[in-house]
Amino acid sequence: MTISEQLYERAKRVIPGGVNSPVRAFGAVGLTPRMIASADGVHITDEDGNEYLDFVGSWGPMILGHSHPAVQSAVIRAVKSGLSFGAATKREVEIAELICASVPNMEMIRMVNSGTEAVMSAIRAARGFTGRDKIIKFAGCYHGHSDALLVQAGSGVMTAGIPDSAGVPDGCTKDTFTAVYNDAESAGRLFREFPEEIAAVIVEPVGANMGVVPPKEGFLESLRGLCTEYGAVLIFDEVITGFRLAFGGAQEYFGVDADLVTYGKIIGGGMPVGAYGGKREIMEQVAPLGPVYQAGTLSGNPVAMAAGMAQLKMLKENDWIYEELNRLGEWFFGEMKKIADQSRIPATINACGSLGCVFFTDRTVVNYETAKTSDTEKYAEYFRYMLERGVYLAPSQFEAMFLSAAHPDEELRDALELTRGFFLGEEQETLRNESGTYSRI
Ligand SMILES: *Cc1c(COP(=O)(O)O)cnc(C)c1O
Repeated sequence: MTISEQLYERAKRVIPGGVNSPVRAFGAVGLTPRMIASADGVHITDEDGNEYLDFVGSWGPMILGHSHPAVQSAVIRAVKSGLSFGAATKREVEIAELICASVPNMEMIRMVNSGTEAVMSAIRAARGFTGRDKIIKFAGCYHGHSDALLVQAGSGVMTAGIPDSAGVPDGCTKDTFTAVYNDAESAGRLFREFPEEIAAVIVEPVGANMGVVPPKEGFLESLRGLCTEYGAVLIFDEVITGFRLAFGGAQEYFGVDADLVTYGKIIGGGMPVGAYGGKREIMEQVAPLGPVYQAGTLSGNPVAMAAGMAQLKMLKENDWIYEELNRLGEWFFGEMKKIADQSRIPATINACGSLGCVFFTDRTVVNYETAKTSDTEKYAEYFRYMLERGVYLAPSQFEAMFLSAAHPDEELRDALELTRGFFLGEEQETLRNESGTYSRI
């Protein structure tokens, strides 16, 4: 047994499924997890000393690459001044000022500890602000694991509130409507039926938890229009897209205004951070200013804020990073598409900026229903083929490939060569030498 396998055996005895978040278990790709020991730049190394070219990037936070010196040294400096005070700090003021100065419609922001918490709190603020209970989400969009949001409406037909998870009482999801991604009219019908009852529409401006599904032209604009018309709050869940598509996230990238935005992942630079913020009149509802209660013992933690601030400052002060990310994405996923088009394996490449994915289907993927037409077994085969050859992809068909500004063209070209090997059935080399360490083709 490898060291990873031995650790996984031990893990399964004391941690449910051996992991602290389900997708890490590699269940969907028929393997057991590689236990990761360290990471640097775009490479991660497992406990057995195998090195991989990483396309997960901790699910997005590592937009500058792993162990970026600016982030790492900020954390080390912060640690020396104390790990947590449970009191207000200058760092929290500075990071809030930086974000409010640079993100459209961001007038006030509150730090929390995860994306789940950010979304849960934003919904509470929207309900408090509007005095309404119902919310609309879209099938296939993930908004964290809080009770009210664990609804997907598997059939794609709009349904009210059937929870996806055991342990979620129907009462918690009865006010959650599910509409169809890229079909604003499916939300419009709900608004017409319940014109005075819908507090908020929450959407991933680029769907990135059902594979990658970009918004069709006009989709986000129509949601904006509906929310304005019916007095509901438009929430962009930018836990993935925030500080990725642009510093101002999807609002800046697509030119559509949200009322509230939720963050996670990138905002913490790799530390557990989330945040929600937006229009002043809504955020003024939040305690201690207003009646919407929301709190956190470790929120705004000084070490986490130092990491987040260092990463955001790098992103803010270096415009070339977004040009580079979007250039890399356009080129890399464009090449993936050329490969897929030459192959007899049915595949659709979706991408937006530095996010992309391959769906093993011949359908155009625009929503959850079409995403689900993918051949997940084929994806598992592709995943295993790449992993064996030194490329670490998301261990699920329904996740994104995350590019970072640190991905060098040459290494991406190697990943494309391997992908070509898989799609065209050509024998391919590996990105590893005999000792397991990374070596270019
Ligand atoms: C990851 C994610 C969340 C949940 O964030 P956690 O930090 O895992 O709680 C919420 N929304 C979106 C869009 C996400 O991708």
